[in-house]
Parts: sequence; C-alpha cells; structure tokens
Amino acid sequence: MTLRNPALMAILQCPSCAAALQDLGDELLCGSGHRFPVVQGVPVFTSAGRDVEVRPDDHISNPPPADGVALQVGSGGPWLHIGAGQSEARLDHCIEVETAIFRHTDLVANGAALPIRTASLYGCLAVNVFEHLREPDKTVAELARTIVPGGWVDISTAFLQPLHADPGHYFNVTDLGLREWFSDFDIATVAVPYEYHPALALGWQVSDLLFWSPPHLRERLGKLTLDEIADFWRDPPSREKAAFQAFMEFPEARKRILAAGFRLIAQSPGVRTASDELPEI
Ligand SMILES: [Zn+2]
Repeated sequence: MTLRNPALMAILQCPSCAAALQDLGDELLCGSGHRFPVVQGVPVFTSAGRDVEVRPDDHISNPPPADGVALQVGSGGPWLHIGAGQSEARLDHCIEVETAIFRHTDLVANGAALPIRTASLYGCLAVNVFEHLREPDKTVAELARTIVPGGWVDISTAFLQPLHADPGHYFNVTDLGLREWFSDFDIATVAVPYEYHPALALGWQVSDLLFWSPPHLRERLGKLTLDEIADFWRDPPSREKAAFQAFMEFPEARKRILAAGFRLIAQSPGVRTASDELPEI
C-alpha cells in the first residue's frame, strides 16, 4: 500500500534507532530490523500497532487558529500538526500526527519519540494537546531536534481546565511552566487566547460541577450567585451554610475531574526497614 502522504518517506526515520526506513508496502522496515505497520496508508509508530483505532468520519474537530496555521503555511516546508483530529481540509506542507487514524492523518506517533529526521521540519502546531502528553518535556526535546533553526512552534495548552482524558490528561500547566518546557526555544510570546479566557474557565468548571451534582441538588446549586460562591473561598463561616454543605454531596469520583489539587502519600521503594502501615492522617 502506498502511504497517504508519499512525501513523508523523505523525512521519516526509525524512532527507536534513527535508521532509514524502507517501504515494504504493508509495513516500514528499518536497517536494524524494527518494523512499523502501515494501516490504511498511515504508518503507525505507537505500541497500538495494527490495532490502531480508526475513527469514524462523522464529525469535524475544532479548527486550529487561523493565525497559527498561517504562521506554519508561511514556512514553505513540512510542518507538524500534532493532534489534528478530524480536520476539515488538508493544508499545504502539513503533516497531521495523531494517536488514532482520522481521515487526514498522515502519521500515528508519540510526540516523545518522533519518527522524523533531525532538522527536517519548518514548524509545529499543537492545540489542546500538551495536557494529554505523558512526557511533554521529551516531546519538546523532539521538536527542538526535528525543527530547523528559526522554525516556529505554536502551542496552546490547558491551565485551569477540568480533567478531559482523551486519551490521557496528565499536566495542566501555568504560564511559567509552559515557558520552562520551551526554555531552549526563543519564546516570542505567551498569551491568553479567547478560548482560554477566565470567564470560559469558570463556565466550564461550573458547567461540570452542576452536571455531576446529585440531581436533587442541581436546581438549588444553579441558583447560587457568583458572590455566594466567592464567599465559600473568602469567608470560611459561609461554609456552614446549606449551600456549601450541598456541594459536599458531590460524588467522590467526580471530585477528581474538578478538584483544585491532589494529595499523594507514598513509600520510598526498596527493602522496607519501617512499618508498611499507613500513618494516621
Ligand atoms: Zn530501528
């Protein structure tokens, strides 16, 4: 089978050993013997292999920001769109990377081990992707390796967003954290685009909070004013009121979607010299 995007062969390499890849039709083979299946014309470099999910062509994903795309198209050479999803149209020089096969997916790969030759890309666009990466710092290192000096990255990622695991959700990041990930790059700007406005952050949180609240409390909680909710934070005695106590009935499992943070308790690995009993907390 020919690759959907035959131009890919010029920039692909084995993600395990960096050797050149040979197109055998239904798989790609590297000089060291690593094999990667080709499914529906798409080379698959993740552990999913031939079992990679093929997504139905039934909806269009949110389009990327027009100015972000313009930035990449203006580059005049191949650029990655990581997490492109079900894109509406193919874009010039764009290589769509995903974890499943959508209608325009060129490549199924992990960002932390890109099957791309060093200094062969002109940029990367990734919208709502980095919070889902298990190894974001390794992905950044891979972008630094594969993008030519001066090539642009355009990264939009979550800070105050509830859990939305598809397929995973690992790291919500602050402005400073995002700068830290990309500290080897020359950062031009870190801004808050419209879709990440604080009012929308609050809206999403409240929407999920009401949705997952016990049904008999939903209407009552929905009538709370912003001032009453703000008092829960700034006026601790207000937490004795019925409204706050109603929130305490929020299902335990759903708290994990909206919580402000987590507390971890763990033991150092290795042979135990102390009790294995969890101390009273
Ligand atoms: Zn190899």
